[in-house]
Amino acid sequence: MNPDRIFDEFPAPSYRGNQKQALRDIRDAFAAGNDVVLVRAPTGSGKSLLARSVAGCARPVGEADPSDATGAYYTTPQVSQLDDVAADDLLADLNVIRGKSNYTCILPDERNTPVNQAPCVRERGYDCSVKHRCPYFSDRAIASNRSIAAMTLAYFMQTAGSEVFRKRDVVVVDEAHGLAEWAEMYATIQLGPRTVPFWDDLRVPAIDGDLERAVRYCENLAEKCTRRKDDLLAQETLSPAEVRERDRLQELIGELDWFVSDYRDPESPTTWLVDQSEPSGGSSVGDGDEDGGGDGDGGGDDEDGGPLTIKPMSPEKYLQHTVWDRGNKFALLSATILNKAAFCRQVGLDPENVALVDVGHTFPVENRPLYDVTQGKMTYEHRSETTPKIARTIVRIMQEHPDEKGIVHAHSYDIQERLADLLRDFGVGDRIRTHDRDDRDADLEAWKATDDPDVFISVKMEEALDLKGDLCRFQVLCKAPFLNTSDSRVAHRLEESQWAWYYRTALRTVIQACGRVVRAPDDYGATYLADSSLVDLFERARTDMPDWFAAQVDRMDRPDLPEFEPRAAVGDSSGVSRGRGSGGRSSPGSPSRRDDSTTASSNSGSESESGSESGSASRSHSRSRSGSRSKSSPLADVWDTER
Ligand code: SF4
Repeated sequence: MNPDRIFDEFPAPSYRGNQKQALRDIRDAFAAGNDVVLVRAPTGSGKSLLARSVAGCARPVGEADPSDATGAYYTTPQVSQLDDVAADDLLADLNVIRGKSNYTCILPDERNTPVNQAPCVRERGYDCSVKHRCPYFSDRAIASNRSIAAMTLAYFMQTAGSEVFRKRDVVVVDEAHGLAEWAEMYATIQLGPRTVPFWDDLRVPAIDGDLERAVRYCENLAEKCTRRKDDLLAQETLSPAEVRERDRLQELIGELDWFVSDYRDPESPTTWLVDQSEPSGGSSVGDGDEDGGGDGDGGGDDEDGGPLTIKPMSPEKYLQHTVWDRGNKFALLSATILNKAAFCRQVGLDPENVALVDVGHTFPVENRPLYDVTQGKMTYEHRSETTPKIARTIVRIMQEHPDEKGIVHAHSYDIQERLADLLRDFGVGDRIRTHDRDDRDADLEAWKATDDPDVFISVKMEEALDLKGDLCRFQVLCKAPFLNTSDSRVAHRLEESQWAWYYRTALRTVIQACGRVVRAPDDYGATYLADSSLVDLFERARTDMPDWFAAQVDRMDRPDLPEFEPRAAVGDSSGVSRGRGSGGRSSPGSPSRRDDSTTASSNSGSESESGSESGSASRSHSRSRSGSRSKSSPLADVWDTER
C-alpha cells in the first residue's frame, strides 16, 4: 500500500467539509505503520469517497511481485450502502459483485431462474455455452480481475478461502461499527425446521445447556447431512428444490464441522453458547438411544428438545479467517465506532497496530436538535403505563409538525402495535402508517414516496435509512434500544459485568438513529426522545460519545409542544392550536424551549385509554401500499427484525 497516493485517488473534483483533513490523517496513520485505521466519520463526511481514496492506495499489479497481494476490496454489511455505491458515478471503478440469487440465468428457457438454481447449478457437469455472457459470472470475473472489488460483507465472508477472491493488499469495510455482532450473527448456527432440510425426521435431544451433548449431536447430524448430500450429488439432475437442499447441506456441514472442531480445540478463544426452544411437536419421542448411535442423534436422553441456536461469543477466529486474513491493510469506516480499545477487543485486533482517525461533523448542531419529551420508562414492567403517555406526546408532536413527515422508532412490533392502536383511538390514524415483518421494504418505500405528511411507525429502522430533506423532518425514539437481556449472549456478557459494552451498544444505535433525518449541511430534522431511559443512557455512556454528538446532548431541552388536540394533528383547522406556526414548516430548532413540566401534566388521565393491549392480531395500514419494492431492506441482511 502506498498511502501517499491517497489525494490522487480521491474521486471527486473538489473536497468538501473535512475531507481533506480526513485524508491527511488517514494517510499519516497508515504511513506510521498501522495495519488498521478506524475512521470515525459522521453523516455527511462523504465516507464512500474516503473509502475509494484508501482503496486506490493498494499496490497495483504492475508494481507487485507474483507473490504479493494487489488491489483492494470494498465491503459493507448494508445492502443499501452497496446499492448507493453501485449508483454513484464517482465510484464507477468499484466493481460490484452480489450473491448468485441476485442474478437471473440468460438461457432461453430459464430467464426467470435465479443463477443459484440455474442448470449449471442443478446439473452435474453442465457446460454452459453462454457462461461468458452470464451476468453473474461476468460480474464475478470483472470484480476478481479489476483493482477494486465491491461486495456485501456477507458475500465477502462467504468467499473466504476462495481462489477467485484471494487476499488483496487493502480491505475497506464501510459501516464497520457492528463488525463483531455481524460476525457473531453470521457465525451463529441455527438448527431448526427452516434451516435443516430433513428436520421433521430427526429426533433432537434436550441439550439442557450441556455443550458436550450439543457437540455430539452436531457430529451425528453432520454425518447424516453428508450422507444425504452425497446421495444428491450422485444424481445426474437435480430439481430446484434439491439444489437448494444440496447447497444448504453443504453450508450446514461446514457450520457443524466448524463448531465441533473449534469446541474441541483447547487453544480456541471462542466461547460457545447453546439455546434451545421447546419442541414444536415435529419430532417423535425416541427410545433413549445411546450417544451417537442410530437415530438418537447423540442425545442419549429420553427427553426431546426443540430447535437449537449455537452461538459463538466474540468470534475472533471466525473474523481472522473471513476478514483479517484477506488483506494486508484495513480501513474500517463508521460514524459510530465509539471506543477504540473496546472495538479492538471485540474483533480480535491488537490496539497497538490500530489508529483512530476522528472526522469532525460539518452539519450545524442547531439543525439536528434533540428534544426531551420523556414520559417514563419503557421497560417491560412500565410499558403499559408509559406507552399511552408517549402516544399522546406523538399526537402533540404531529400537531407541531402538521405538514411534515415523521418516523417513530417503536423498537419492537409489540410497541408498534400498541402505539398504532392508541393513535387510531385518538383519531389520528389517517396520518399513521405501519409495516409488518414481511412487508418492511414495500411499506417503507410507500411512505417515502408519499407527499402526505404521514408518520411511519417503524421497527428496527434506526440504521441505514437516508431520510433527506422533506422525506422526514422529525423522529421519535420510543424506547432506549438496549439489547435483549434474555438473549443468552447478552446475558453472558452481563454476567461478566460488561455494562459499558451494554450501554455503548445502545448509544451506538441512538446515534445511528439521530443521523437518519439530517443528511446534508443545509438539511434539518428534530429528534424527540420519549423514553426516560434514554437520558439515563446519555449519562452512563457519556465518555463514549463523539464530541459532535455530545454537543447535541448538551443542547437538549424540553420543547414547548401544543396542547393535546388530535384534530389539529390531522389537519382539521377547526381544532385547537397547531402550535405557533399554524401549519408552517418547522425550521431548525423549531419547537421553542420551555422550562416547566407541562408535557407530563398534560398527559394526565390518559392511561385508561390504552394500557389495554389490543387482542387484535392484525396490524392495519391506514394508507394503501404502493406495492413497489425499489430497494432491498436496509437492514434485512444485518439484523433480526424482532426480538
Ligand atoms: S452459467 Fe449459464 S446456466 Fe449458469 S446461470 Fe449463467 S447462463 Fe445460466
